[in-house]
Amino acid sequence: MLGLYIHIPFCSAICNYCNFNRGLFDAALKERYVGALLTEIQRAGRAGEAGGAGEAARADTIYFGGGTPSLLEAGEIDQIIAACRQSFDVAAGCEVTLEANPETTTTDRLRAYRSAGVNRLSFGVQSFRDDELRRLSRLHGADRARAAFAEARAAGFDNVSLDLMMWLPGQQVDEWLDSVDQAIALGPEHLSLYLLEVYPNAPLKEDMARARWSQAPDEDAATMYMAAMDRLEAASYEQYEISNVARPRRRSRHNTKYWTDGQWLGFGCGAHSTRDGVRWKNVSATEEYIDRIGRSEPTAVDVRRLSDAERLGDALFTGLRLSDGVDEIAIERRYGVDLWQRYGADLQPFLDTGLLKRQNRRLWLTRRGMLLAHEVMTVFV
Ligand code: SF4
Repeated sequence: MLGLYIHIPFCSAICNYCNFNRGLFDAALKERYVGALLTEIQRAGRAGEAGGAGEAARADTIYFGGGTPSLLEAGEIDQIIAACRQSFDVAAGCEVTLEANPETTTTDRLRAYRSAGVNRLSFGVQSFRDDELRRLSRLHGADRARAAFAEARAAGFDNVSLDLMMWLPGQQVDEWLDSVDQAIALGPEHLSLYLLEVYPNAPLKEDMARARWSQAPDEDAATMYMAAMDRLEAASYEQYEISNVARPRRRSRHNTKYWTDGQWLGFGCGAHSTRDGVRWKNVSATEEYIDRIGRSEPTAVDVRRLSDAERLGDALFTGLRLSDGVDEIAIERRYGVDLWQRYGADLQPFLDTGLLKRQNRRLWLTRRGMLLAHEVMTVFV
């Protein structure tokens, strides 16, 4: 079944490290944007029916990502979900995730999202230490993050994820683990842990130079990752992907589509889609996206039919991100390729050095291998 991704490109302020497709919130622009989104979703539904024997395509996840989707009013979220339901055959029990920033929420607001059909929240917490949040120019503090989590529970959400970032400027290993411990103490169902990447043109780079903040040495970053995963495991979280852990049956169903060779449609500016071996991306600029929708012009730029080799490469590249790894038999059935015959010689050194494991025709990265995943994955690209 399809996943439906809805991009909301608005933020109250722009964080100094951010490399996403986003811009400053503007109420009038947001209103026009929501209208364009509704049109794009309805059109995709009609096009799907026309090309699929008159039947609406089935979908079982909806994901509001951004930007800051929690800047949308509950009524707007409700309209978008309704458009998805009208245009697609949305499965009962569909996972509906909304990314939220802690400074934007109240219990009432979250309750209204829940009434609109949102059943999973993903909070961009990043850190439970105020000094670190200030260095990242985030608008919330640690207390607000904890309050937002409590509001989510009060509003009835039993599926909440927290994003945390490690290897922050000036961050020591024990400071990072303090954030991990504070997250565990709240007891979310899911956590995503990312290494901060400082992009060459990020304002954070200048802030770091001015304030003489630096990132800890690589070995410390490795320790941060390994120690955090150990702690989370000890707290009964299961690591199911390089950057993600969850309680049983609480994996992100939507994001899992990206790692299991699935199919999804992206709506909104800059959103990516992959379906039936074709990949495309919507135009990135918000205004241009709205204009194209208004003129009934295609919003997709960069449409590409993937070759079999590319599809196979992607399936292996993303499949190895999962703790379950890659099922060689499933790959052979789908792509007619004996993975070990084709890549075995290149992969053997990673097995010998303990970065990869192979058993019963299943191949997976060890935790140490996950740290060096890119090196292993270059074999497939
Ligand atoms: S809130 Fe998220 S999307 Fe918005 S600027 Fe900050 S990091 Fe970027």
